[in-house]
This record gives sequence, structure tokens and C-alpha cells, in this order.
Amino acid sequence: MSWQTGLIKTILDPANLIISTDIAVVIADKYPKARHHYLVLPKEDIASIFQLNRKHLPLLEELHLLARNIIEVRGECFESFRIGFHAQPSMQRLHLHVISKDFVSSWLKTKKHWNSFNTPLFIPYEALYEDLGKNDKIERLPKAKVEELLSKPLACNQCEFVAKNIPSLKEHLLQH
Ligand code: AMP
Ligand code: ZN
Repeated sequence: MSWQTGLIKTILDPANLIISTDIAVVIADKYPKARHHYLVLPKEDIASIFQLNRKHLPLLEELHLLARNIIEVRGECFESFRIGFHAQPSMQRLHLHVISKDFVSSWLKTKKHWNSFNTPLFIPYEALYEDLGKNDKIERLPKAKVEELLSKPLACNQCEFVAKNIPSLKEHLLQH
């Protein structure tokens, strides 16, 4: 399916690269789910987290370095970001999400969007790094677990509030 290769096409155009090193690039997410949302991708053709092994740990460190760089370049503070991978990615080419915790964005439209960043469907960089170092691979979550996490209540990431729907969650997030 061609939409799954959209990121690969995007990084082929130098105009889209906010940061580029020999090893990896940083681009803006085309459909940002927060005020700041970037993706860090290796130049090496690695499809996803499921192709990683222990030998890729230095590559992950480089991706994380660029994640910190883009936050600094934008004059933002590291603590106001989440940095990690989707447990069930949809787009090809390994990509590290660098997303601000406000989640204020017109592109945030569905429960799936929210829960993919605010449940264990989002694997923080450090957790994935540790898992890979220990097990030499990243396991897929069982389908039933993914379904369960996707259908979780819309719990705010900054307080105890649980929203009854996406419009009320979005209104609530604006107040933080
Ligand atoms: P994932 O669920 O981890 O595969 O996330 C893929 C991310 O890529 C999403 O946050 C999308 O908004 C973003 N995206 C989709 N197409 C493009 C594109 N052509 N250029 C940049 N970002 C994109
Ligand atoms: Zn809240």
C-alpha cells in the first residue's frame, strides 16, 4: 500500500529535512497531534521497530540525540515532550516520535489518536532501548491487547480528568 511509504517519500526531498546527519533526519509530522510534533528517521532502510536487534542500540542513541536537538533548536524544554515509538506503527521506515505533551492540535481527531500516544501503545524511548538490549528484538503486542488499549477511556495526560468524548477532551486540554 503506497500510503505506508509516505515517510520514505517525504525524506527524499531535502526541503523537508529540518536536521540531517550521516545517520538520520528530523522532519515535521505532516499531521501533528500536538503544538510540536517531529519524527526522527534513520537513513538506513529499516522498516520498523520489529527489524531492530541489539546491534542497533548505537543507532537508537543517535535518533535520541537528534530528538533532543530538535527540541533545543525550537527553544523548547525537554520535559514538556514525549519521545518514543508506537507499539503498532502504521508507516514504514522506523520513526521516533518527538511530541509535545500539550496535545493541542486540530489533527487530533479520534480516540485512536489519543490512546496511541497516551497508553502503553506508546513506548518511551528508554523502555524500548532497554527491552532491545535485554531481548535482542521487539515483540509485537497481541492483537487483543492493542484493541483493549485503543478502547481505553480518554484519560487526561496531565490530571485526573476523564473525558466522555474527543471534543470535551480537546476543550479540557486547552485549559492546561
Ligand atoms: P505511526 O503510527 O507511528 O506509524 O505514525 C506515523 C506518523 O507519520 C503519524 O504521526 C502521521 O501523522 C505521520 N505522517 C503520515 N504521513 C506523513 C508524511 N508524508 N510526512 C510526514 N509525516 C507523515
Ligand atoms: Zn487534565
